[in-house]
Amino acid sequence: MKLEIRNLSKVYPNGNKALDDVNLTIESGMFGLLGPNGAGKSTLMRILVTLLEPSSGSVFVDGLDLSKHREDIRRMLGYLPQDFRFFSNLTTFEFLDYGARLSGMKDSKIRNNAVHQMLETVGLYEARDRKANKLSGGMKRRLGIAQALINDPRIIIVDEPTTGLDPEERIRFRNLLSTISSRDVIIILSTHIVADISSTCKNMALLSNGQLAYSGSPEELIDLAKGKIWQMTVNRDEMDRVSNLFPVTTTIPVDEGWEIEVVANDPSPFKGIPVEPNLEHAYVYFMDKQLRQSNDLSIDIEE
Ligand code: ADP
Repeated sequence: MKLEIRNLSKVYPNGNKALDDVNLTIESGMFGLLGPNGAGKSTLMRILVTLLEPSSGSVFVDGLDLSKHREDIRRMLGYLPQDFRFFSNLTTFEFLDYGARLSGMKDSKIRNNAVHQMLETVGLYEARDRKANKLSGGMKRRLGIAQALINDPRIIIVDEPTTGLDPEERIRFRNLLSTISSRDVIIILSTHIVADISSTCKNMALLSNGQLAYSGSPEELIDLAKGKIWQMTVNRDEMDRVSNLFPVTTTIPVDEGWEIEVVANDPSPFKGIPVEPNLEHAYVYFMDKQLRQSNDLSIDIEE
């Protein structure tokens, strides 16, 4: 599978520019789309699932132009929107069966088998007779992904997959997605939570103000932040000064004040011990660099 996004822009009728000339190629496997709120992630997802028309640019799915083959491409898609809603009076089984019917599975025997199997896959078989709207947040999310997967989509798009889930359910949901990703499918996770991406995605992109700020592997992004993360111990007075100068990613109270980690090319006038960056550090480093460039500040953190 190959998804090619070419010169994609979206300006909403009120003049908001949500996407600005985005170019991106996504191949089979788990792909993470990361960016702060308002970066344009949902806009891009909604264009990919044909709910929204771009202002300009194109999207190709295995060479098929999205604007010319909407129906064919729609059939290849599974989408779990952020605000996925449930019909009030259906059981878990009935809900998924309804979703399967909507997706075109007409043969009731085949559909019945598929629904049972999918409920097993997402760990909801035991809950099949419970009302869908009474399930826990994590179970609802899993039922959501079940309906997105029921017609065997080739491209699966999940918007903010773990928002509102407790840590245990987050891990369970991530693991479920990575199990699915062993097939020849593209799974796009759109999120503002760095941890959703670090453990599972082979490739990723960073969106910032509607523009593509980075695309590549999480490891390459981490490499860019090597030598830019510093650990230091500061008192209250130093803390104020440090945090005015540099982004602080970690703060741990200690006897002398705080042990902190900061992102900086050179932390002087403070003294720091260099630490190995992780994806969270790299994300902060990159977003800070973008912000400084866009504000055209004199403090240059480029090499
Ligand atoms: P994200 O999903 O990364 O939070 P969005 O795609 O929702 O970002 O939003 C990108 C930008 O477009 C934001 O500035 C947002 O306010 C704006 N936007 C989103 N939807 C609309 C809309 N329907 N009309 C006008 N502006 C919108």
